[in-house]
Amino acid sequence: MVEAFAVASGKGGTGKTTSTLALGMALAERYDVTVIDADTGMANLLFHAGLDDADVTLHDLLIEDRDVAVEDAVYDRFGMSVVPCGTSLAAFEEADPERLRDVVAELATDTDVLLLDSPAALGSKSAVLPIVLADRIVVVLQPTVPSLSDGLKVQEYAHSYGTETAGVVFNRVRPDEDVERIAEHAGRYFGGPLLASIPESDEVRAARRAGKPLLAHAPDGPAADAFHEAAAKLDVRDGDGDDIADRFRSAVIPDRI
Ligand code: ADP
Ligand code: MG
Repeated sequence: MVEAFAVASGKGGTGKTTSTLALGMALAERYDVTVIDADTGMANLLFHAGLDDADVTLHDLLIEDRDVAVEDAVYDRFGMSVVPCGTSLAAFEEADPERLRDVVAELATDTDVLLLDSPAALGSKSAVLPIVLADRIVVVLQPTVPSLSDGLKVQEYAHSYGTETAGVVFNRVRPDEDVERIAEHAGRYFGGPLLASIPESDEVRAARRAGKPLLAHAPDGPAADAFHEAAAKLDVRDGDGDDIADRFRSAVIPDRI
């Protein structure tokens, strides 16, 4: 079985990378999970996962003529398979985003859940590809009306390529925010449930500083609990790995950008 989720949002800094790794670790208690930093222009998953010094990254797989096997960019960390991406601007410019299709196709044959940490903006091929490739998106938002509106644009884009909504995660929620009211709006407009509200918390910041995913750094805190709740609500579907690999390989890359 395998299902691919793109963890997406309308803006940077909403907590996509934090959420990708936290959901990944929570899902890894039940599934074989592979996490990919598909935010190839603003990669930062490596810093959240203690992989700053990784020799081979997704960039090497996306650059033609670098003789690197997919497995060389896969690291066993925190109970997951993690594919980090490098941060060099030169490598990003050299990378061919279309090659992500084959990389994800190969990874899909040997895992249960693929989580694609996705870019925020929708302005280029490398930015939209994870959303086009995924089965469903998890939208990460702050519980504010402008943030909902950004998230809806991402959802609209995803739906236009047949990518459904698995659910919404509210992140960086402050005690004084009226989550109930915003959740009501979200319930009306998003094609999936509210998976969880993650509090704004020092633990999350400290985890990032320690180079560890939240669930490794503060496994029993309120933010980790909320991510467990979100993962429990994600009903992972039972896609056939080979079928999904074929679909990825033949995915049409949007040229309306
Ligand atoms: P994105 O991948 O969407 O750009 P990140 O996951 O890298 O966002 O988060 C951006 C910054 O915000 C990081 O420094 C992270 O530690 C911090 N952050 C994310 N979620 C929370 C939270 N719930 N509470 C406090 N800080 C958070
Ligand atoms: Mg990120």
